[in-house]
Amino acid sequence: MEKITRLLEVEWNVGRTGIIAPRAVLEPVVIDGSTITYATLHNPADITRRGLRLNDHVMVHRAGDVIPRVEAPVTHLRTGDEQPIAFPEQCPRCGSAIDTSEERWRCTQGRNCHLVASLAYAAGRDQLDIEGLGTTRVIQLVDAGLVTDLADLFTLERDQLLALDRMGDTSTDNLLAAIANAKQQPLARVLCALGVRGTGRSMSRRIARHFATMDHIRAADAEAMQQVEGIGTEKAPSIVAELTELAPLIDRLAAAGVNMTEPGATPPPADTTGPDGATAAPVEAGPLAGMTVVVTGAMTGALEKLSRNEMNELIERAGGRSSSSVSKKTTLVVAGEGAGSKRAKAEQIGIRLATPDEFATLVADLLT
Ligand SMILES: [Zn+2]
Repeated sequence: MEKITRLLEVEWNVGRTGIIAPRAVLEPVVIDGSTITYATLHNPADITRRGLRLNDHVMVHRAGDVIPRVEAPVTHLRTGDEQPIAFPEQCPRCGSAIDTSEERWRCTQGRNCHLVASLAYAAGRDQLDIEGLGTTRVIQLVDAGLVTDLADLFTLERDQLLALDRMGDTSTDNLLAAIANAKQQPLARVLCALGVRGTGRSMSRRIARHFATMDHIRAADAEAMQQVEGIGTEKAPSIVAELTELAPLIDRLAAAGVNMTEPGATPPPADTTGPDGATAAPVEAGPLAGMTVVVTGAMTGALEKLSRNEMNELIERAGGRSSSSVSKKTTLVVAGEGAGSKRAKAEQIGIRLATPDEFATLVADLLT
């Protein structure tokens, strides 16, 4: 069966072995009773051969359960708004060079692509914040065989780093110091750096605040994990399973001296189940206890240097909940310079507003 629809976008996905494959995002079209939104494009040469452009009307072919494929552009339907399809210049996952010598493009890191991407993520500003450990440096470490997982970073030695290209005394010492500093990051960031599927920054913070220590997190079964706000019956077992899988890595991180506790958080009581089977709600303390806070606009004064992620961490340390959108559930909107629609919405529905300075006073005890 064939139908005509429009090619909206081309996505580049990296497979387990580093193969970089283009996928067409289509205007949904019903073929043979099912709605088709994606179709394969095979490889870059195929795109070139067929002369495809974005916004083109294209012929989509579907046979049985085989993945639908884009056949050819319908050139007489062109309007002049069609755009060339951009090919990636670096691996879209890890940032390495691409081997284009074959028709199927491949990340030069091959099976290590995922490792490079996950290490660069772990070292990122909102995770372990290891300055000097960008993608290029990570690639160097992986290529040299010095690092095969996150824990290896913390056992790197001076001589090993000095032997690398473009690593002098100063950059080696700086990198080692940055890695040593990273060991002091709060549990929420360590957890986030581990890249547990289904948990980003804010979920990692909630888990860390709820359990307070890595030992308590690891002791939690699916039921205990569900006590964390935002974790439901589907997510809880998969988080628990993944943490079990990560256990050897976590042990090695702990042995290397990486912090495994969340400052200011208290672990949940051993048994929170009341006589009627009801679970006691955790009591949060702090100046923002029970409040849902939205931050918008540019921060100034004492808060000027804080990234949005650091602002959210601050709110949660103060006992509040951070949120990115204003609703009736919002308690407070911190509106800095240039605040636009979120501020307007807060005014419209009558949510309390604070300037960055007013907010800094509110949480002064937590600002160091
Ligand atoms: Zn890659």
